[in-house]
This record gives sequence, structure tokens and C-alpha cells, in this order.
Amino acid sequence: MTDNTPRHSLTLIGLGDMGTALARTWLAAGHRLTVWNRTAAKAGALAAEGALVAESPAEAVAANGLVVVCLLDDASVGSALDGIDLTGKDVVNLTTGTPAEGRARAVWAEERGARFVDGGIMATPTMIGVPEAGGYVFYSGSRALFDTHRAVLEVPAGARFVGEDAGHAALHDVALLSAMWGMFAGISQAYALIEGEDIAPKDLAPLLSEWLGAMGFFIGNAAERLTSRDFTSGVVSNLAMQVVGTGTMLRTADEQGVSAELISPYVDLLRRRLAADPAAHGAEDTVGALLLLKR
Ligand code: NDP
Repeated sequence: MTDNTPRHSLTLIGLGDMGTALARTWLAAGHRLTVWNRTAAKAGALAAEGALVAESPAEAVAANGLVVVCLLDDASVGSALDGIDLTGKDVVNLTTGTPAEGRARAVWAEERGARFVDGGIMATPTMIGVPEAGGYVFYSGSRALFDTHRAVLEVPAGARFVGEDAGHAALHDVALLSAMWGMFAGISQAYALIEGEDIAPKDLAPLLSEWLGAMGFFIGNAAERLTSRDFTSGVVSNLAMQVVGTGTMLRTADEQGVSAELISPYVDLLRRRLAADPAAHGAEDTVGALLLLKR
């Protein structure tokens, strides 16, 4: 912090692994931080680093205009803050939740006289305060709150504001995590297939990385086709062929004595899209199948 850097005052509710990592970056940057945690012992190390430790959530909230919350889940936010006066406060909720929980929290905060922004943290605690690690936080809700506090919010990790709908930070967060879990499922299947064979996992690893990188084109391809609703122009791997090809995946799993439970729902989706209209959908890209997911 240089002499010209403004010193901000803020409150942080929640000193789990993530809250503690956030706290350390604000203290290291010279900001005045008041903390509260249900298990008071977790505040001890931070007090030694300069944090002011509140005796109760009400005292922590009263200490500053900006109140950052990072608790386990949405229910714990209610149990820590229900009944506390939030009049005139700027509440930033970095607790992971669903879009509906984010929107309901916004109403809850506004009814208590606060401005509200919800956040979705795209980083692990080890990436907090390490800009080169590439972590960041999605924010949505009150633009005015975000603009007021942007500099201090950017201390732990980059900040990406994704709109005034308080549910959209969570929606972006969960969309990215859903893609990640699908990738983890596919990688798990790949390693399960070679278990017990004379192929070392460490030899498959670089091949998997290279292949998944090359197949990343699907992200942009899907976005373009969903926008244009054109699933047939320029198709080089058509759905009819892919339904036959993915059958090979299921038979190979069977041959290897490996369950296909992580893979078969996606294959079923492709089959359903084809079966609905083989003449029309057979020539399509596989992207069209995702339309079946929307209830
Ligand atoms: P931890 O399990 O380490 O900490 C949970 C925190 O919530 C603790 O401060 C705990 O208090 C508090 N808490 C739980 N229940 C209650 C309650 N009923 N009333 C008051 N306080 C409560 O979790 P993290 O710090 O890792 O995660 C915090 C948030 O950050 C979560 O929403 C998580 O999804 C999100 N996040 C975490 C990431 C990670 O890799 N760790 C990555 C991205 C997001 P106590 O100490 O008393 O138990």
C-alpha cells in the first residue's frame, strides 16, 4: 500500500478457509478490517495480524458500512444475520448459493434497508491474493454498491460484474462449475477404462490434456449455434454418426468391466434427439441435443 492508496474500512463475517484467505489480503493491503466468526478461536491469528474482532455479528455489522459475508451456505447467512439492523449497509454476500437464493437474499437485504450484491468466487483459498493464479469473483446486484466498493473488492481477486439481477453471479458461477464437473466425470471415466491395463495413468495424462484442449472448440461452436439456431450448416460430425460412435464408448466400458453411468446419460440425450426426427436431426451437430434439457 502506498501513501496515496486510500485506506478502507470493512467488515467480514465468516472465517472459514475462504474467509480467512480473504481477510489476510485486506489486512496485508493495509485496510481496516473487523471480523466475526461463530467459532471465535478462528479470529485469533487474524487479530495478531491487525484485525479487529467483534463479539457478535451485530457488533461486526455496526462497525462498518461495507459488510462482506462468506459463510458455508445461504442458511448460515440467515442464522448469522437474521434480526440484525442492516439500515444503510452495503452487503456483499460471497457465500455460494443458487440464483434463487441470491435473488431472495437481495430482497431480504433491501427490506432491511441495505444495498446488496451477491458474489460467486471462482477461486480456491490458495488463489486468493495471488493475481497470477487467475482467480476472480462474479458479482451481481446493485451496480451502485459495486462501483462504490470496486477497489476494495478487487484486493483479494479480480472482479467481474455480470448484471443487476442478483441471481446472475450464482448463475455464472454454477454454469462454469457444471461444465467443470462434466469434465471431471469424463476424465474419471478415461482413467477407469485403463485401470489394470499396461497403460500408466501418467502416460495418459498429457494425452487427455491435449485432447480436451483441442475439443474446447465445442464451447464457441455451441454458443454460435444456440444464437443462430442453425444446427446443420457446416456440420462435420453429424448426430447420426455420433450416436453410432458413442455406442462404441458404452461397449468399450462394458468390455473393460467399467460402469458407463457417468457417460450414458449424455449418450441417451443424443439418442433421444435423433429418435425424435431422424431425417431432420441426423444431419445436425450434437449441440441441438441440449435443447432437450430445458424443462
Ligand atoms: P468452511 O467450511 O471452511 O467455513 C464455513 C464458514 O461458515 C465458517 O466460518 C463457519 O463457522 C461458518 N458457518 C457455517 N454454518 C454457520 C452458521 N449456521 N452460523 C454461522 N456461521 C456458520 O468453508 P469455506 O470458507 O471454504 O467456504 C465459505 C464459502 O466460500 C462457501 O459458500 C463456499 O462454497 C465458498 N467457496 C469456497 C471455496 C473453497 O475452495 N474453499 C471456493 C469457492 C467458493 P465456524 O468456523 O464456526 O464453523
